[in-house]
Amino acid sequence: MDYKALIANRRSYAMDWKARTGGKVLGYFDPYFPEELAYAAGMLPVRMMAEREPDTLSAKWIYSSCYPVKAFTNQFLLGRFDYMDALVHVEGCNWMYNAFEVAMNHDPALLTHFLFVPEHTDAPTSRDVLRSELNVFKGKLEEWTGKAVSVEALDYAIEVYNTNRKLLRKLYELRRFYHTPILGSEAMGVMLANQLMDKAEMNLLLADYIRELEAREPAGDRVRLMLLGSETWSTDLEEMVESLGANIVIDDLDNGASYCWNEIIPLEDRLMAIALRYLGRPHSALRDNNWRRRPQRIFELSEDFMIDGVLIAKQIYCHPHGLDNYAIWKLLRERGIPFHYFERDLSLPAEETKLRLKAFLHTIKPGLTRLMGWHQPLNLEV
Ligand code: SF4
Repeated sequence: MDYKALIANRRSYAMDWKARTGGKVLGYFDPYFPEELAYAAGMLPVRMMAEREPDTLSAKWIYSSCYPVKAFTNQFLLGRFDYMDALVHVEGCNWMYNAFEVAMNHDPALLTHFLFVPEHTDAPTSRDVLRSELNVFKGKLEEWTGKAVSVEALDYAIEVYNTNRKLLRKLYELRRFYHTPILGSEAMGVMLANQLMDKAEMNLLLADYIRELEAREPAGDRVRLMLLGSETWSTDLEEMVESLGANIVIDDLDNGASYCWNEIIPLEDRLMAIALRYLGRPHSALRDNNWRRRPQRIFELSEDFMIDGVLIAKQIYCHPHGLDNYAIWKLLRERGIPFHYFERDLSLPAEETKLRLKAFLHTIKPGLTRLMGWHQPLNLEV
């Protein structure tokens, strides 16, 4: 699968999709956005991807924010999202809300909606609150498209999205093998491309790609890493890790593993089924403030995927992930899991990051050899 081309050509893909289907494109950012509803209404939900380019505009609108928000604002003002007909902000990251407000004020023709998702996803009333919010959103979609969202359309959308999640999970399962046939950069590239495409079309590509991977010769020994931190927009970090003889085999990113981990369980009440799926998704740093359930999931993933160490890559000024750090670090220290924390923006300073990664990989190599009884020397670049 040429995921790099799919990502690079996302604008022409969306324009072509609109010409083919007569539908509208809807941009979203938050991991709690209920894509199935928009898809059932005949729209193409597309995750907004922040891309780095000279930023001359965002500072006039937004003061002091993380780089994804600044980049999105800059790109929006430059007209890079001109294919987007609608933009929905889901309660979650307040910094991204600033970008949503700029877009709303800048382009009055843009169809916009604010969707509330309860802060405490497992509180007793959350499911009813979210169901009612989804009902309001459904009404808004019907107003935008001029047609009702039928039960049949909802069932089809749920089926397409559940199939998509199954296929993506399969990709993750292949990464569980000690000698996995897939590199972390390839897996993350596919995840990013997936969030830009019509899932019915993507499912066909994914099924072919998985067949191809199953027939592929597995890679040799590599240090196995887990990636945590803010959402990602490129595969640069994964590629750098691979150039040093290691491989990212699992992540807990909002637009990585957490995107596909749980499915919708069919219920007579379709909106409630969708509400329960989103409330039940792996806890995100955006909403894990109360009970701190994320560390336990991270620990379970670290065991399931047999990792040797963890990388935590946080976007500079990302407060949701900054607030989460203490709990994650505590867990990793208590369990003796080696980790390396660093901050980045949309670019990755090559020399500095490479040096830090090399140093980290050397600290975990002796532990690996001893604990796992490896008989072959690791091919770590020194
Ligand atoms: S990097 Fe952090 S602060 Fe910025 S948009 Fe993402 S979650 Fe929000």
